[in-house]
Parts: sequence; C-alpha cells; structure tokens
Amino acid sequence: MTRAQARVGRRTEAPGTTTPAGRTLTRLDAIPVSDISKVGERRQEALAALGIHTVLDLVTHYPRRYIDRTRQAEVSELRPGDECLVLARVTSGRGRRTRGGRSIVELEVRDGSGALKVTFFNQPWRAKQLPVGTEALFFGKLDTYRGRRQFTNPVVDLIGNRTGRIVPIYPTSEKSGIAGWEFGEWVAEALHRAGTLHDPVSERWRREFDFLDRTAAFGAIHAPETFADKGRARQRLAFDELLRLQLEVVMRRNALERDARGIAHPAPSGSSPDLVGAFVDQLPFRLTGAQHRAIGEIGRDLAAPRPMHRLLQGDVGSGKTVVALCALLTAVQGGRQGALMAPTEVLAEQHFMSVRSLVRDLVIPDPTRLGGSRPLSLRLLTSRTPASERARLHEDLRSGDLDLIVGTHALLTGDVQFSRLGVVVIDEQHRFGVEQREALRSKGRHGAAGEGADPDLLVMTATPIPRTAAMAVFGDLDVTELDELPEGRTPVDTVWPRTPADEDDVWNRVRDEVEAGNRAYVVCPLVDGSERVQANSATEELARLEAGRLAGLRLGLVHGQLKAQDKETVMERFRSGEVEVLVATTVIEVGVDVPEATVMVVEDADRFGIAQLHQLRGRVGRSHRRSWCFLLSTTSAPDATRRLEALVATTDGFELADVDLEVRGEGSVLGTRQKGRSDLKLASLRRADRPLVEAARAVAEDLLADDPFLEADALLADEIRLFIGEDEAAYLLKS
Ligand code: ADP
Ligand code: MG
Repeated sequence: MTRAQARVGRRTEAPGTTTPAGRTLTRLDAIPVSDISKVGERRQEALAALGIHTVLDLVTHYPRRYIDRTRQAEVSELRPGDECLVLARVTSGRGRRTRGGRSIVELEVRDGSGALKVTFFNQPWRAKQLPVGTEALFFGKLDTYRGRRQFTNPVVDLIGNRTGRIVPIYPTSEKSGIAGWEFGEWVAEALHRAGTLHDPVSERWRREFDFLDRTAAFGAIHAPETFADKGRARQRLAFDELLRLQLEVVMRRNALERDARGIAHPAPSGSSPDLVGAFVDQLPFRLTGAQHRAIGEIGRDLAAPRPMHRLLQGDVGSGKTVVALCALLTAVQGGRQGALMAPTEVLAEQHFMSVRSLVRDLVIPDPTRLGGSRPLSLRLLTSRTPASERARLHEDLRSGDLDLIVGTHALLTGDVQFSRLGVVVIDEQHRFGVEQREALRSKGRHGAAGEGADPDLLVMTATPIPRTAAMAVFGDLDVTELDELPEGRTPVDTVWPRTPADEDDVWNRVRDEVEAGNRAYVVCPLVDGSERVQANSATEELARLEAGRLAGLRLGLVHGQLKAQDKETVMERFRSGEVEVLVATTVIEVGVDVPEATVMVVEDADRFGIAQLHQLRGRVGRSHRRSWCFLLSTTSAPDATRRLEALVATTDGFELADVDLEVRGEGSVLGTRQKGRSDLKLASLRRADRPLVEAARAVAEDLLADDPFLEADALLADEIRLFIGEDEAAYLLKS
C-alpha cells in the first residue's frame, strides 16, 4: 500500500479544526478519487497507476503544458521544422511491428485544408486511442519522411467538447487511457465540490506579493482564461510548496539551535598558540579576498557559543581546502580535534594527501616535549585501513593524541570515539544525508573527555548549487561563498570536436603542448561496473594510445586500483615531467594539482555528469598558461548535448549547476530529502524561482518568529503534517 492509499479515508484532521474559511488540503486528501462521479473502478485503477489516489492528488496533478488554440494552424500551411498545433480528424490508420519488434502506428489525419501523416513509435495503444473518425489536437514538430510531411510522436489531446482557448495537457494521461478532457472534467468537478479552499497565506502576504488566493489559483492552473492567469496561478501554488519547505527547514534549524550546546573555541592567547596564523603564514601563496572573508566568517562562528552550521560553497579551484583547514586548526589550537569526512575513499585519500602537504611544516607548541613543540598529528581512516593500524588509530583518537583525522563513512562506525571533537568538516554534502551529518556531530557530544558539546560543522560542496537550491535544501545552514579564484588562473578553452578532422586536432594539440614542455591528462571512458573493471579499461586505453595516437610520448597510468604508494609514484613522475601524458580514470577528479598540465582530453564525455566534467576540467588552467579541455563524444542524445554545450559555453560553476538542475531535475538536489521531494511539483530550485524562494523564506521566518510551533495556526501545521509525514512533523511541531 502506498503512502497516499494509506492516507485515504484516514481523516487526520482534528475535530473542530474545519473552519468556515473553507476546505483544507488535508480534507481533500481524505477523499478518494472514486468519489468523483465519473470515476469508476477502471478509472480509479488507471489513476492509481499515475499515483493519484485522493482528490488532493488529483488537483495537484498539474498540466504539463498548455496549448493555445488560437494559434492552431491549417494542415495545408504547415512547413517542415515548424512546431505547430492542428485540430484534425483521423481518416485512416494501421498498426504494425518492424522486424526488430518495434511497434509503429501510422495514421492519416485531415482538416478542411489537407491531410497529414502521423507516426507513433513504441506507442501501440495509440491505435485504440485514435480510431478512424476521432477528432484530436496534434502538437509537435513537423518533419518529412520520404517526401511526405508528418508528425512523429506528437502530443495528442482528445478535446471532447472542451471550448476554452487554452487547453491544458496533463502528464502521462494518454498512456493510462485517460483523455485530457476527461481529466479536466474530474478536476473541475473536484474543485467545484470543494468550493472555497482555506488559504493558509494571509491576505496581508497575498497583497504584499500580489498572489492569487488559493481557490482562484487552483481554478486557473487547470482552466486558465489567459496565459497570464496561468502564470499567476503557478506562481501562487509554487509559493505554497516552497513555503512548506521553508517552514520545515527553518523549524529544523530552530530545533537544532534549541537542543544544541556549542563550543566557544578560544582565540589564540598565552596558553593557546596561533596555529591558524602560523598556517596561513607558511602557505606558499597569498589568500584571496574571498578566502579571507570566509575564514573571518567561520572564525566568528567558531568563537561564538552557538554551534556553527555553515555551508562553504566555491567553484573548482577556489581554494576551499585552505579555508576548511583554518577551521580544523582552530579546534586544534584550542586543544580539540578536527575531522574531515569525504564520501568516497579516493576523495578521502586525496584530501588526506593535500592536507598533509599543506600542514607539513606545522608544529604545535608543547612544553612537555624536548624542543618545546611537536608535529601536528594527522591520519587517514577508510575501510581500506588495515585492522592492525585501525586499532592503534582508534586508541589515538580516544586519547586525544591525534589532532586531525580525514576519512570516509568509516568515521561513523561505532568503535570510533573522539577525545574532544571540536570541528567537523564534511565534503560533498549532497552525497551525505542529514542523518550522517548528525551522526558525526553526535560523536562530539559523546567524546571520551566528557565535554558533551556539539562540535561546529562546516559543510563543503565542491559542486556549487544555486543559492536558491541551497536555501531550500540546506535551509538550516548559513552560506559562505568563495566567489573568487586565486590570481593567475586562466579560463580553460573548452572544445567539443564534432568531426574526425577536429578530433585529429585534439591529439595534435596534446603533442604540441607536450613538446612545449607542458603536460596532458587523458580521462578514460566511464565504464559501468566495479573499480576493477574501470581499471582494466584504463589499462587497455593506455596500450591503445601508446601504440597509436600518442606513440612516442611518455605515458603514465593512474586508477583507483593502484596502491596508494604506486599512485603517488606515478603522480610524482607526472609532476616532475618524467611522465608527459597521464592516462587516468576519474580518480583525478579532485585534488590533483599540477600547474604545468594544460590539456585535458575526456573520452566519451557524454557519460559524465556536468558536475563531474566541471571538476575534471578544474585539473587544467591552474596557472597563467593557456589551457584546453576537449570533450570527445559522438552523442546526439538531447540531455547529453545540453550538458556538453553548457560546458563549452561557460566555466562558471554556478551557471553550470543551474543547467544541471534543469537537465536532471530537482530530485538530484533534493535526493536526501525523501519526503519533501514529492511536494515540489511546480516550484523550481533554479534561478528563475529565486524570488519565490526568498519570499517563502521571509514568510516562514516571520510566521515562526511569533509562533515557533505554529500553535496558533492549526491549519498550516496540519498542512506541514500532511506533506512531511507524522513523525518528522511531531518533532518539529512539538505535538
Ligand atoms: P577547491 O576549492 O576546488 O577544493 P583547492 O582547495 O583544492 O580548491 O585548491 C586548489 C589549488 O589552489 C590547490 O593547489 C591550493 O593549494 C591552491 N590555492 C588555494 N588557495 C590559493 C590562493 N589563495 N592562491 C593560490 N593558490 C591557492
Ligand atoms: Mg577541494
């Protein structure tokens, strides 16, 4: 039984909460769709297949698009390449299968002016849906096949006797055998019977943001008179989704603050050394303005008694590691420990190596030692750490002999105990859930030294997400952005070669650069399967390149299956120039830093996501030298094309993040929020909805400032309960 089915018939509303102001969404969610007069058993099943069980599900199943009937064209005037809409009657049709088993349904349709062919691939049910004589709207891009004009897989809407100028098209309603006009009728009946809906957004706010009221918004999103109406309806209903989300995140933040006991990390003084200052002084470069600002902001958080909850965002190469280290060292200089957690072993290893090289010369004053100081102690813990080493490491963590630890999920296991954990840094937050974040923090609360305080938390995203999304998803975190790259970086020229001749240029470029004393990366195709499969394929690629395209150059190979020691050896040879071209798997995605590398070739680039390609590209362009990134791919898939074109168009990580959201959908960002996900049907976390997210945040803060548990607003509380689930709501609403 699904969650929605379980809800049906269970009237969660408390008696006495129905108001003369109208029906609530909770109420609509308690009415099964079978209550709609024309929804019989078969229709009910078809709706269930779409996830629609209740009247609330029905009215929040929003149109996917709208067709403007005044822009309807005559069949005779259509030109190939036009995106167009025609109203036509089916005059003949046949369904068949190709030898390969593909289903094809071919129709001829006519209006008063002429005839057109319509072809559907892999939609055998179209034959039944569109028998001869049926009149329907067809919307699509006109193409030609063997000289005849045709539509291929157009959007179809059986209009019935609908008369409106704007026809809503509902998602997936065709396949389920439900015609658009039917769906529209059910929604109309549902809304009519619901009457006036309770509006949780008060008139004051509605006036301030010029919002429709809820009843009008539901009416207009399903049956708009004009496109402007539709726009306003969407805005209002999207706001409602975002308001629920913001109420949730603000309540969660408040709850954390209420329950937390933080650490006020001491500033350097006679008894505690200025480790952060010493660290910054010994860096081989000057901090950027953005790094200074970030370190300042974080420093203030750390000094305050309230636990820090901060997101550090910055583009590839913006220097987040240095900032994170300053936070970790603040803990160490106050006599506490720091932990850095990364989502994969490779990432953890790379963080470990870069942290180790950054703090190599750092010493901690220690009057009990000969010479009055000791080196900073730093270790790595992953599931690959041998058991023998692990026991020792656990002991050192518990006793406080270990200052800093870098690791994976292995840090979360039960036998890991800290002495006094002061600062936690988590990298690539979106791959960790809130639970894991909290698990590591709670290890601070249960430290061996019995301090019982919450460590400060810094979350880093190597893949920036639009601020809008950050506010929505990490609403319980404050945000710091590193919006500046270190000096002397040159933007990378990104090229997607489209012809074999262009591809030849790629390999010639690699040779030219190597000849000029620079170096190149070749990233192997991403293959499905284990790291071992990946490693094998990289080994084969190396052999192929050595014998072919790159014959005569000195090639090296690095992949995740190599021992840490061997990996370091290869990297060292690449750094020194002994290896000129490094053939690699995505292990080089982060952390690798060789300024002489000026070319990156990514094979089968369409297999990688935007964020990953952007990370990979970040390995070149790390000096004043001009650099190139070549994305090899023969794809014509629309999503992959969008991704590659976006990378060619911009090197701005925030802009790419926006495209990524658009291509992959909000779910990719909201992934760790299981429940809230289904609630974002209209709202987008992309930049376009930023004003709405900000409005929702403002309203949520305002409502909760006066009434932190929504006690005076039973109806809004009820709505929160409906969308985020009883348990979570009980925690946040204290009821
Ligand atoms: P990211 O933000 O992508 O994690 P890193 O922290 O890995 O970036 O830094 C990228 C490289 O830039 C590293 O080699 C680092 O040592 C170097 N770096 C960091 N800050 C600066 C700076 N202010 N000036 C020059 N190089 C810097
Ligand atoms: Mg980094």
